[in-house]
Order: sequence, then C-alpha cells, then structure tokens
Amino acid sequence: MLYYAEPVARLIDQFGKLPGIGPKTAQRLAFYLLNSEPGESRELAEAIINAREKIRYCSICTNLTDKDPCGVCSDSSRNRGIICVVEEPRDVVAIEKTKDFKGLYHVLQGTISPMEGIGPDELKVKELLARLQDKSVQEIIVATNPTVEGEATAMYLARLIKPLGIKVTRIAHGLPVGGDLEYADEVTLSKAFEGRREI
Ligand SMILES: [Zn+2]
Repeated sequence: MLYYAEPVARLIDQFGKLPGIGPKTAQRLAFYLLNSEPGESRELAEAIINAREKIRYCSICTNLTDKDPCGVCSDSSRNRGIICVVEEPRDVVAIEKTKDFKGLYHVLQGTISPMEGIGPDELKVKELLARLQDKSVQEIIVATNPTVEGEATAMYLARLIKPLGIKVTRIAHGLPVGGDLEYADEVTLSKAFEGRREI
C-alpha cells in the first residue's frame, strides 16, 4: 500500500473491509471510482450514508426498515395468525418475491451456532416470544436455512414454542441441503412453503 498516495490507500483499505472483497477487487473498485465522473463517487458516498442513517430495525419483526413498524408489520391485509421465522432480512426479500406468503415475519438476525459462540440470547428470540403473548398467533413457520445451524435453531424454537399451544412447522426440503434461502428460485421456495410439516 506504500506505493499509493494516502487517500488512494485509504479507499482501497475501506473497500477491502467489505465481505467478499479481496485486495485485488478492492484496488479495482478504488481505481474504477478514481477514473469515473466525480458525481458517481459522490452519489455512492451519499447512498451509503443515507441508508446507514435512515435504516433501522423494525421494533416488531426486527427486519431492516426506514419506518417503524415496517411495511409488512403495519399492513392490515397480512394474516396476523402466522409468523414466518427467518435468519436474515434478505430471506424476507426472497420469500416476498414468491408472493405466496401473506403472514408476518420475524427476523432472528442469525442462527444458533455453538462453534461461533452464538446462543439464543444473541438472537431475536426473546422478541419473538414477546409477540406470542397475546395468543393471536396460531402457527410459526420456521424458514431457517437447511444447514446444521438452521436445523438446530428450528429444533430449539419448536421446543420453546410448542408448549405454548402454537403449531410449529418447518418448510419442506425441496431446498438444497446446506443451501441458502436467498438463492432458491421462487418456485422451489413456494413448494417448500406448501410442503411444510409440523415439528
Ligand atoms: Zn416489522
């Protein structure tokens, strides 16, 4: 990095901190911006700052939102009796694209992973249980990814929620094992919801 002027080195360094960006890609992105119109860099910088300042977590479902409660939680046409539990905000996007699911969501913000020291307390489990207090929810669909961590999380939630008299179902495995919900095509994801089973 010594070969670059300090502002260039700093830009490369910042890109390099992003997930999936290695040193070569970081350099490529930095030089792309340095060679582009000044307006392009300004727009990118403003988009980052704007998103970071306006986006927060919905106080009900913990999804990312620019208004609280989020669009799904405040939509009176959604079925309040079903909550679909997912790992990440991007899973909500994948399921919404199928246009089949009309219930509400709950975003755990991760999965139980003893290897990484992530237990239920690090996830939004307490927030989910709080939503079940008013007895209006009849079914919880656990749509965590079909990975070891996703399965462990599904089992944990089932043990916790079933004693409350609420049906707990797991989406079917038309999904590739070890795969990510967000990469499943819409038809596969729709079928996975249709074929959900009680756990
Ligand atoms: Zn919400």
